[in-house]
Amino acid sequence: MKIKILGTGTCVPSLQRSSSSYLVQTKQLNILIDVGPSVVRRLLEYGFTTRDIDVIILTHFHVDHTADLSTFLFASNYDVEARAKELSVLGGDGLHDFYRGLLAVYPWLLPRSYEISLREMSKGTLNKGGLVITTAQMEHNNESIGVRVEERKSVTFSGDTDYTKNLVELASGTDLLIAECSFPERKVDGHLNLEILQKIVDEANPKRVLISHLYPEWDDFSGVLHAPYLLGEDGMEIEV
Ligand SMILES: [Zn+2]
Ligand SMILES: [Zn+2]
Repeated sequence: MKIKILGTGTCVPSLQRSSSSYLVQTKQLNILIDVGPSVVRRLLEYGFTTRDIDVIILTHFHVDHTADLSTFLFASNYDVEARAKELSVLGGDGLHDFYRGLLAVYPWLLPRSYEISLREMSKGTLNKGGLVITTAQMEHNNESIGVRVEERKSVTFSGDTDYTKNLVELASGTDLLIAECSFPERKVDGHLNLEILQKIVDEANPKRVLISHLYPEWDDFSGVLHAPYLLGEDGMEIEV
């Protein structure tokens, strides 16, 4: 599996960091984890188009994780290059309402040339294209989920979250944990800092940890991160 880091940022506009989104490339599927603002453009920068994506997983509905879903769906209807293959969208509770709301505001997003399938799975396991996709409820919003994608190896995404045993379980022994760590030190409800992330890492024992969802405070971070940590940067590619 190859993971392309499309964005490591937040709601704070930044030229260096697009909002947190990731592309998981497996033998059979390309999975987009979150679709924050400017991520459709990031895909192009890194040599992909919206038509390369088979599955979109939304960790929750905050704007920095979903704003470009409308861009994605609108582009899929552009008749010169209209999408033909099915698009699967997976999310937590309320995904259907979220999608209906989007169509109420933007009726032009209704798929014209392809099928879209929505699935709400706040906790569960799904076999798709030779992969096992597992989700668990996170500690951020009602609909927040973490996601583990497993082929022979595994990658686990925390989405936005505070400390929760569900993340420890989901990430247990994973080859790569892509974890939100919004702030190095400051503790904000619903998010992690390095100290709390370390507790999760101690308990879940992932082999590598990529730190993402980075607020501007990280620009002034002068500490040193040791293995298993990697500080996320947009454009990184990691193989597991
Ligand atoms: Zn966020
Ligand atoms: Zn959020």
